[in-house]
Amino acid sequence: MEKFFNVHTNRKRGAPYAPTIKSNKDVYLSNCPECDRTRFNEENRDLSLVIEGYRKLPDGLLCGHYPLTIVSEKVIDIWQKYNVSGYSYFPINKLFDMKGNEIYTECKYFNVITTGRAELDFDKMNIHIISECSTCGYVEYNKETWEFGEAFYKDETYDDSDLFALKYFEKSLLCTKKILEISYKEKLTGFQFKTFASMFIYINSPPAIDLKDLFGNAKRD
Ligand SMILES: [Zn+2]
Repeated sequence: MEKFFNVHTNRKRGAPYAPTIKSNKDVYLSNCPECDRTRFNEENRDLSLVIEGYRKLPDGLLCGHYPLTIVSEKVIDIWQKYNVSGYSYFPINKLFDMKGNEIYTECKYFNVITTGRAELDFDKMNIHIISECSTCGYVEYNKETWEFGEAFYKDETYDDSDLFALKYFEKSLLCTKKILEISYKEKLTGFQFKTFASMFIYINSPPAIDLKDLFGNAKRD
């Protein structure tokens, strides 16, 4: 069994998700003064979401606009209960429906910022950096990410966090088996886990891990 996993917020057919981010501040910053690229405004803590779909919101909410990790208050409570490490969070202001009406005022959602870190083993993966913008951090590699193949990490760079991201790939949430076990035991909805090794494999990607298969015989408490 693998040690690390890739966390996805999966959208089951018809389940609500967030196609749009709303903010009173700039969601994107205009062109980087150095490389001219448009950037997501990572410092912005004034985020609201537009929700499409009317069914019960999942605990892990897919954001289609930008790959933010959006989770319900239940997730934060449970992660705290189990002393999960490697993240910080801030609240999402409001949820709107497609017509702009505020909805779901009773549920609180949070944007998770991953603070745990590890690094890919670029040598083993035959990857090297061609250029890196010193202002916005944009990196170009000798191949496209979908050509990276199987992912390997450098053991000495992993900081032992339960939740972590890779240097240069901070938007992809990774985790230990503990997170899978908690998700199963506490019946968290909307999450899907795949093996770490498959994180850059988009075509013929292996199926999501069946948590029931993995933990089904464990006692629920
Ligand atoms: Zn730049």
